[in-house]
Amino acid sequence: MSFKQLNLHPRILNSLSELGYETPTTVQEEAIPKILEGHDLIASAQTGTGKTAAFVLPALQAFISQKHPNKATGTPSVLILTPTRELANQVSMAMRRYGKFMRFNSLCLVGGMSYSPQIKQLSKPVDVVIATPGRLIDHINQKRLDLSHLNILILDEADRMLDMGFIDEVEQVASLTPKTRQTLMFTATWDGKLAKLAQNLLNNPQRIQAEEQVTQDNIEQRLHVVDNDDHKHQLLQHLLLSEEVTQAIIFSATKRGADDLAKKLAIQGHSAAALHGDMNQMARNRTIQKLRRGDVQFLVATDVAARGIDVTNVSHVFNFDLPKFAEDYVHRIGRTGRAGALGTAISFISPNEHVHLKRIERYTGKQVPLHEVAGLEPKNRLATKTSSHKKKGRSFSSSSRKPNGNSGFKKKAYQQQPAVFHRKGTSQKKLRHAS
Ligand code: AMP
Repeated sequence: MSFKQLNLHPRILNSLSELGYETPTTVQEEAIPKILEGHDLIASAQTGTGKTAAFVLPALQAFISQKHPNKATGTPSVLILTPTRELANQVSMAMRRYGKFMRFNSLCLVGGMSYSPQIKQLSKPVDVVIATPGRLIDHINQKRLDLSHLNILILDEADRMLDMGFIDEVEQVASLTPKTRQTLMFTATWDGKLAKLAQNLLNNPQRIQAEEQVTQDNIEQRLHVVDNDDHKHQLLQHLLLSEEVTQAIIFSATKRGADDLAKKLAIQGHSAAALHGDMNQMARNRTIQKLRRGDVQFLVATDVAARGIDVTNVSHVFNFDLPKFAEDYVHRIGRTGRAGALGTAISFISPNEHVHLKRIERYTGKQVPLHEVAGLEPKNRLATKTSSHKKKGRSFSSSSRKPNGNSGFKKKAYQQQPAVFHRKGTSQKKLRHAS
């Protein structure tokens, strides 16, 4: 199927071909026709599946086909709610990229930023608002924003929004919009809380599910057992030097850990920066810009701050601290292998963390192969019930310690293909707490 077959307007097709998108991803193929027909929609789609374009393209198309008659009121006809500021910025950028050949005013309203530029922009006509719930409610309470002519309400990463405690805000916002609106809910997981929200907000929704992408096949995943923090730092330093790392995101469990590790890497002579929730939004945006421009090679980040980061040159993701939740693992490793490139995701695990690993492997349906670096082998093994990794069938390989040498890993190649590789038939039972 081509984008043209989805009946998208030539102006949208032009921007897609400029971006090198050749074919729609599965979620795009399934969602776009349903949205264009005006249905409410629940789509199970994780980040990395092309979900942003799946809702942005039909929303843009509605502008061209004059389905949004808000020119007279100057009030928004599309509202996209996201759980985090970074994701809102990301969606906002995607909207501008996909709508490059169209005229519309979009506005990104996120917390952590100064109010005055937002207030100034809100005094002008606006077509699309992309926002995090907290800041949006602030503006609504101050009567700076009128949602009474809204046509499309989009909830991106709805599950994460509920996890972050935004349910009341989401319901409040929805209650201020017309009942006749079209509502689209995108989510990676599904549970009772979300079902209840969907029941309240959506009207006879169509569903897209099962085509869930759990992990991308273009990402090579590896696991290193570590004995302690010192061992972790040594391994990281070795891998950063021996691998062909263009840019890397290194995940830390804590904000303090992210700061400390970024400082340590900087002292070792790397161009490194931290990204976490204790930084103000301006500083976070500046750091992401630096990563995008290539001024920062290694970004040490926490989960929330790194959500939605889409930088094509990120060749490696390191889980310096293994995440507790499988979805966080999938999200983290999805920061590499963007736009069809190859990526490498390397996780450090201490023997007592095998429960988290089990959870991740159950969720992704894949075993992460164990690797060792000669000269930096762990003293301890993973605490599994069987005695050896081999017995459990876990593939295991060792590489010689060659700082600055070539690890033999394939050079990253950009392919203009969807960054998505779907496994059919994966059911929605893979829920965060199900494992
Ligand atoms: P998302 O899941 O929306 O975060 O998108 C993941 C990545 O895939 C982004 O870098 C998009 O630019 C890219 N992408 C989305 N749709 C397509 C497509 N049809 N073809 C190629 N790349 C795409």
